[in-house]
Amino acid sequence: MPQKIVIAGSGFAGLWAALAAARTIALAGKQDEIDVLVVSPTPKLVIRPRLYEAELDNMNPDIGELLATVGVQHLAGFVEKIDADARKLKVMLVAGGSETIAYDRFVLATGSQLYRPNVPGLAEHAFDADQFDSAQALDAHLKALIRQPESTARNTVVVAGGGLTGLEAATEMPIRLRAALGEEAAFRVVLIDTADTPGGSLGDEAAPYFAEALDFAGVEVRTGVRVTAIDATGVTLSSGERIETHTVMWTAGMRANALAAQVPGEKDEIGRVVGDAYLHAPAASGIFVTGDTVRAATDELGNVSAMSCQHALSLGRVAGHNAAAELVGSPLHPYSQPKYVTCVDLGDWGALYTEGWDRQVRLTRAEAKALKQEINRVWIYPPAADRDAVFAVANPDFVIVP
Ligand SMILES: Cc1cc2nc3c(=O)[nH]c(=O)nc-3n(C[C@H](O)[C@H](O)[C@H](O)COP(=O)(O)OP(=O)(O)OC[C@H]3O[C@@H](n4cnc5c(N)ncnc54)[C@H](O)[C@@H]3O)c2cc1C
Repeated sequence: MPQKIVIAGSGFAGLWAALAAARTIALAGKQDEIDVLVVSPTPKLVIRPRLYEAELDNMNPDIGELLATVGVQHLAGFVEKIDADARKLKVMLVAGGSETIAYDRFVLATGSQLYRPNVPGLAEHAFDADQFDSAQALDAHLKALIRQPESTARNTVVVAGGGLTGLEAATEMPIRLRAALGEEAAFRVVLIDTADTPGGSLGDEAAPYFAEALDFAGVEVRTGVRVTAIDATGVTLSSGERIETHTVMWTAGMRANALAAQVPGEKDEIGRVVGDAYLHAPAASGIFVTGDTVRAATDELGNVSAMSCQHALSLGRVAGHNAAAELVGSPLHPYSQPKYVTCVDLGDWGALYTEGWDRQVRLTRAEAKALKQEINRVWIYPPAADRDAVFAVANPDFVIVP
């Protein structure tokens, strides 16, 4: 009976964990002794970093053939329960029913989701671009606005959250509204931020560029206020202001997938398992945590992984390699990612590219936009289903930064 590595999730971390595990097993010549199984709702990779964009084409490429090429199996289902003591998973199958699967090593790569605080009306009335389905719902809503009677509320979009996703969504929104309502239509886009400066988390050097891009896009900004209620015709702010709108987009914060809470051991404030240098869940033998479900040290200076594609691509490779390495008896690889960059899309203004944890601005406007499009449309996409080419980039120390 072969041993089994089960990977939950086929996002960036899950895909690369599977490819890296397959590579390590193949290098040891143990393909007949160890099975790798990915469990996720569909054999697709959702390109979440692009879900704020106007066109949702090719946002969830199929990875079924790619996995099969390297000998990885896929099961369409959701892991519902982790029994860490018995090393068993309960999986709800997409086809119906459930299955219990035993594992020798388990890799948790179920990502994250938008944080939805208890704001009245948020669940019923707010849109988001967090997952493929919700991005499609927002897109359909924007495209259908033209069929509503003209009103200020119809032509106003409120984006809640001044983090990176909020900035990207707000500066892209005028492009989407011109496409939906017509080039000449008058509209408002309002960005609400609880902080004093949108994008302030990226530091003082970046902030003026964000302000310039928001101004360029004609986005109105309200800072130092919270959304206190949302209803079918508008939002109410903590300042008492009411903004009439039929479209509220929520972008405020992410939390680790709920399965992380079932992994024994320490969690951080956003629900991630605190992993060790090899991405073990230290309190759960046989479990690795990766992507948005792990908090891991990226260097020896105290920096830790962000919920980002950049980190998930590397965390996935390391977790997949290490899960396989323990079974084949090859050396484990410590996770390390000292170079950190950010590239924020800012609509027609361009983009902003920074390097380092102190966010030194390196490229702006069209130059940064060209890099952003290269990252988002090429680098983070799954590779072609060519076994040798995949294994050449599935090693745990492969680095994908400019
Ligand atoms: C709008 C938006 C913009 C972003 N922009 C950027 C950016 O510019 N740069 C950047 O680096 N990052 C960005 N991110 C963050 C980035 O998308 C995430 O950090 C990244 O997707 C994390 O990868 P992951 O593999 O850990 O999780 P995910 O990509 O979330 O994948 C999780 C996988 O787990 C599956 N899954 C979930 N629950 C279960 C279950 N119970 N059982 C089995 N499978 C399950 C899902 O279907 C999916 O396949 C953005 C995110 C959003 C939403």
